[in-house]
Amino acid sequence: MAIYTSEHRRLMEMLHPGRHQEYSEVLSSLGAFMEKEILPLSPKLDAGGASIAGPRRALFEQGMTLIPFPAEHGGLGLPFSVYATAVELLGSADASVALSVEIHNAVAEGLLRFGNASQREKYLRGVITGKTLASFALTEPASGSDSGSMATTAERKGGEFTINGSKMFITNAGEAGLYLVFAKTKKGPSCFLLEAPSPGLKFGGDLKKLGMRGSRTSEVVFEGCRVPEENLLGEEGQGGEYAKEILHGARIVVAALNVGISQIAYNKSVAYARSRKAFGKTISDFQLIREKIADMKTGISAGRLLYLYAARVKELGGDYASEASQAKVFATEMSLKACDEAIQIHGGYGYTTDDLHRHWRDARLLTIGEGTSEVLRMLISRKELARAQ
Ligand SMILES: Cc1cc2nc3c(=O)[nH]c(=O)nc-3n(C[C@H](O)[C@H](O)[C@H](O)COP(=O)(O)OP(=O)(O)OC[C@H]3O[C@@H](n4cnc5c(N)ncnc54)[C@H](O)[C@@H]3O)c2cc1C
Repeated sequence: MAIYTSEHRRLMEMLHPGRHQEYSEVLSSLGAFMEKEILPLSPKLDAGGASIAGPRRALFEQGMTLIPFPAEHGGLGLPFSVYATAVELLGSADASVALSVEIHNAVAEGLLRFGNASQREKYLRGVITGKTLASFALTEPASGSDSGSMATTAERKGGEFTINGSKMFITNAGEAGLYLVFAKTKKGPSCFLLEAPSPGLKFGGDLKKLGMRGSRTSEVVFEGCRVPEENLLGEEGQGGEYAKEILHGARIVVAALNVGISQIAYNKSVAYARSRKAFGKTISDFQLIREKIADMKTGISAGRLLYLYAARVKELGGDYASEASQAKVFATEMSLKACDEAIQIHGGYGYTTDDLHRHWRDARLLTIGEGTSEVLRMLISRKELARAQ
């Protein structure tokens, strides 16, 4: 079954009348590439028998990361909803490659929105073309959701900042050539562009994970890392706000990624239910199995509509923080349920087949990363209570 389906095509038509054919061509060609080059590698990436570098580079060459960026910076200038859909497709092909790519592109969005002309000139094209892999370094060993209490510091002296501290659970760490580092100065949390390698920039080993095993996750240590003043992103003391803004966009994409994970688990479940026999019937004839299929499909469709709605609000320039969080909370929790039901439908084979339970293991990260469900529920309720005033 093709990853880019008639359902995606119809949604593009509804969202972008007049341009949908062009967008569908981009997406269907990317989907075909992912099916051929990434999907077959997925079991190996999960088992540690293949490196993410090759498939990620191939995606960069296909122009996936160019989609939402303006043509003046070398991008394709297409709507965010097209990019989010591409990440959904990649989530179906391999979730850990999708994680690495979406974090990379979140850094590019930060550069575009908050960088000055010379920072964009120096770094943006390299990042969106994939020449330079990017990493987002906010979480610390003792602070995640409460990122305002970060302990990493940046001290200004003689035209440069010196960064000391450490970051935890950082995707693409050790592989990236550019780190978006959040550190406290006298004025508060600030954001820096740190090139790698750099004296004093060190990495822990690749952390052992439940899922998303193709992507690299490490501790990052700064021991007197010196960054020139011109690599301060935006205004000093505004880093906390920039992190929030970058993460609002990233949450739409994470929701899309989860829809992609759920879709592939669903496809496998439908195929299995139609072939597995019990009590003289295929198990897809049993009502209780049909109920699972119906609920999985409904959840996937709802998750897709929620992330596309949030993406469209973003494209149209509205405040999309609540919509992005709603999409992420719903899609990540839906995905866990769908991948759990996929295991149930596969019975004992579900529990023992890496290539099936991998989807649940991959999905398990995303009610935690880039804003936990608990913290996002607080954000949604705060925003919605304010809107209701
Ligand atoms: C594989 C992986 C990749 C990651 N990649 C990156 C990356 O690239 N860059 C990066 O910066 N970070 C990354 N992270 C970190 C991730 O974003 C954090 O783990 C996440 O933000 C949660 O922070 P924490 O782990 O410190 O948990 P905590 O913030 O300590 O939360 C622990 C629990 O307490 C709950 N909690 C916290 N505050 C409240 C509250 N006020 N009310 C109710 N409940 C609350 C949380 O919801 C959670 O259930 C990654 C993590 C993993 C595991």
